[in-house]
Amino acid sequence: MIKMSKYVISFGGNALGIDPKTQKKRLEDAVQAFIPLIQAGHDIVFVHGNGPQVGMIHLAFEESFSSPAIPLSEAGAMSQGYIGYHFQNSLQNALIKANLHRPVTTLISQVIVDINDPAMSEPTKPIGAFYDLKEAETLEKEKQYTMMEDAGRGYRRVVSSPKPQDLVEKDSLLTLLNAHHLVITGGGGGIPVVLTDDGYQGIEAVIDKDFASAKIAEIIEADALIILTDIDYVYLDYLSPNRKKLTSINAKELAQLVKEDHFKAGSMLPKIEACLQFVNHSGKQAIIASLNNVNLAITEGLGTIINP
Ligand code: ADP
Ligand code: MG
Repeated sequence: MIKMSKYVISFGGNALGIDPKTQKKRLEDAVQAFIPLIQAGHDIVFVHGNGPQVGMIHLAFEESFSSPAIPLSEAGAMSQGYIGYHFQNSLQNALIKANLHRPVTTLISQVIVDINDPAMSEPTKPIGAFYDLKEAETLEKEKQYTMMEDAGRGYRRVVSSPKPQDLVEKDSLLTLLNAHHLVITGGGGGIPVVLTDDGYQGIEAVIDKDFASAKIAEIIEADALIILTDIDYVYLDYLSPNRKKLTSINAKELAQLVKEDHFKAGSMLPKIEACLQFVNHSGKQAIIASLNNVNLAITEGLGTIINP
């Protein structure tokens, strides 16, 4: 008998391209890989990133209406709708083709953060497009953005990225999962809110979807956390020509490598910290793999597997 499992599958905004046509195509391709898992009856929560998209939406408003710029929480909410629409549409169409009947729901999601999180005053989360050094300096001057080099790929705007504490819509998520909905939630890490005397209020930040995925995996008591990105493995000495892939590692060894500063903040480090958090909390496995290899990642463990 096949054991039914619960998975959180999360993938990066960078893997979705920067225009609607590319995004739709990438999602149509990606969901194919999830069909066998759905066929086997597994429950899946999908989480997606929004780094490039939230930056584009924010900038588009700023350019079109000049001031005031829309808050990042509103830009994040729009990215959940924009990406969620493509995601649910692609998934529904793939289910029809495979003659499978499962409801698909995109859940707009607010994630509670702590306004006193030290990350609020130390921007680390890259959003929007990549720029060269000169363009980056102009943006710093003209728009008062903080710009930072992003893993050898160019300069990007960075914003505050506090840690997720809880999901406001968690009861809705659990109800949907109990009814075997395929749920897309926590998009872009969730809309960041703080709990005040006046209720939940959006704040100027973008949560890393890697941490939101770990939090959601914890909430639904997932059997595995699968983080898909645009690279096949986690590497040691990533930017050197002699980089070495990590195929399988236990949480303790990986935590030691983090301590030794092997991984880049804003890109690979949040994935690794999120996996460690989930593995240590649940005693289950996490995997970091390429969206292009998702089939092999799931069936054969192609990617970096993190064991308890
Ligand atoms: P996502 O949108 O999937 O979250 P990110 O850009 O945040 O993608 O993170 C994935 C990127 O991290 C890779 O494309 C790569 O450029 C970068 N990276 C930084 N350090 C490493 C490393 N040690 N091993 C692999 N990739 C790394
Ligand atoms: Mg990322």
